[in-house]
Amino acid sequence: MSDQPWHKTVCILCESNCGIEVRLEGRRLARIRGDKEHKASQGYTCEKALRLDHYQNGRHRLTEEIDWDTAIDETAARLRAVKDLHGG
Ligand code: SF4
Repeated sequence: MSDQPWHKTVCILCESNCGIEVRLEGRRLARIRGDKEHKASQGYTCEKALRLDHYQNGRHRLTEEIDWDTAIDETAARLRAVKDLHGG
Protein backbone atom coordinates (compact mmCIF):
# COMPACT_ATOMS: atom_id res chain seq x y z
CA MET A 1 0.00 0.00 0.00
CA SER A 2 1.44 3.35 -1.08
CA ASP A 3 1.92 6.07 1.50
CA GLN A 4 1.72 8.74 -1.20
CA PRO A 5 -1.02 11.31 -0.55
CA TRP A 6 -4.15 11.56 -2.70
CA HIS A 7 -4.41 14.89 -4.55
CA LYS A 8 -7.80 16.30 -5.51
CA THR A 9 -8.22 17.44 -9.10
CA VAL A 10 -10.68 17.03 -11.96
CA CYS A 11 -10.84 14.98 -15.13
CA ILE A 12 -10.44 17.27 -18.15
CA LEU A 13 -11.50 14.81 -20.83
CA CYS A 14 -15.01 16.21 -21.24
CA GLU A 15 -17.14 19.11 -20.08
CA SER A 16 -18.43 17.25 -17.01
CA ASN A 17 -15.10 17.73 -15.22
CA CYS A 18 -15.71 14.92 -12.75
CA GLY A 19 -13.82 15.19 -9.48
CA ILE A 20 -10.95 12.74 -9.17
CA GLU A 21 -8.15 12.00 -6.74
CA VAL A 22 -4.71 10.98 -7.94
CA ARG A 23 -1.56 9.53 -6.47
CA LEU A 24 1.66 10.57 -8.16
CA GLU A 25 4.91 8.74 -8.76
CA GLY A 26 7.08 11.43 -10.29
CA ARG A 27 5.16 12.65 -13.33
CA ARG A 28 3.13 9.44 -13.52
CA LEU A 29 -0.48 9.25 -12.34
CA ALA A 30 0.03 6.03 -10.42
CA ARG A 31 -3.52 5.72 -9.03
CA ILE A 32 -6.74 7.46 -10.01
CA ARG A 33 -10.13 7.26 -8.34
CA GLY A 34 -13.36 9.21 -8.22
CA ASP A 35 -13.63 11.94 -5.59
CA LYS A 36 -16.61 11.07 -3.41
CA GLU A 37 -16.58 14.59 -1.92
CA HIS A 38 -16.98 16.29 -5.32
CA LYS A 39 -20.37 18.04 -5.31
CA ALA A 40 -21.37 17.16 -8.85
CA SER A 41 -19.83 13.79 -9.66
CA GLN A 42 -19.87 12.35 -6.10
CA GLY A 43 -17.22 9.74 -6.84
CA TYR A 44 -18.39 8.86 -10.33
CA THR A 45 -15.93 8.55 -13.20
CA CYS A 46 -16.30 6.92 -16.54
CA GLU A 47 -13.53 4.61 -17.72
CA LYS A 48 -11.72 7.42 -19.55
CA ALA A 49 -10.64 9.15 -16.36
CA LEU A 50 -8.94 6.00 -15.18
CA ARG A 51 -6.75 6.11 -18.31
CA LEU A 52 -5.54 9.67 -17.76
CA ASP A 53 -1.96 8.50 -17.20
CA HIS A 54 -2.02 6.87 -20.62
CA TYR A 55 -3.13 10.14 -22.23
CA GLN A 56 -0.70 12.23 -20.19
CA ASN A 57 2.37 10.02 -20.40
CA GLY A 58 1.72 7.64 -23.28
CA ARG A 59 4.83 6.84 -25.31
CA HIS A 60 3.21 8.14 -28.52
CA ARG A 61 2.52 11.56 -27.06
CA LEU A 62 4.23 14.39 -28.92
CA THR A 63 6.97 15.90 -26.83
CA GLU A 64 8.31 18.55 -29.21
CA GLU A 65 8.73 21.74 -27.25
CA ILE A 66 7.32 24.96 -28.68
CA ASP A 67 6.59 28.35 -27.14
CA TRP A 68 2.95 29.40 -26.65
CA ASP A 69 3.02 32.28 -29.16
CA THR A 70 4.33 30.03 -31.94
CA ALA A 71 1.91 27.23 -31.05
CA ILE A 72 -1.09 29.58 -31.08
CA ASP A 73 0.03 31.22 -34.35
CA GLU A 74 0.49 27.85 -36.04
CA THR A 75 -2.82 26.51 -34.73
CA ALA A 76 -4.70 29.66 -35.79
CA ALA A 77 -3.16 29.51 -39.28
CA ARG A 78 -4.13 25.86 -39.66
CA LEU A 79 -7.70 26.53 -38.45
CA ARG A 80 -7.99 29.43 -40.93
CA ALA A 81 -6.84 27.12 -43.73
CA VAL A 82 -9.42 24.50 -42.76
CA LYS A 83 -12.14 27.18 -42.59
CA ASP A 84 -11.13 28.56 -46.01
CA LEU A 85 -11.33 25.09 -47.50
CA HIS A 86 -14.48 23.79 -45.79
CA GLY A 87 -16.31 26.87 -44.49
CA GLY A 88 -17.11 27.92 -40.97
S1 SF4 B 1 -14.65 10.98 -15.93
FE1 SF4 B 1 -15.64 10.69 -17.93
S2 SF4 B 1 -17.58 11.83 -17.74
FE2 SF4 B 1 -16.23 12.56 -16.10
S3 SF4 B 1 -15.13 14.35 -16.96
FE3 SF4 B 1 -13.85 12.55 -17.33
S4 SF4 B 1 -14.41 11.89 -19.38
FE4 SF4 B 1 -16.06 13.22 -18.66
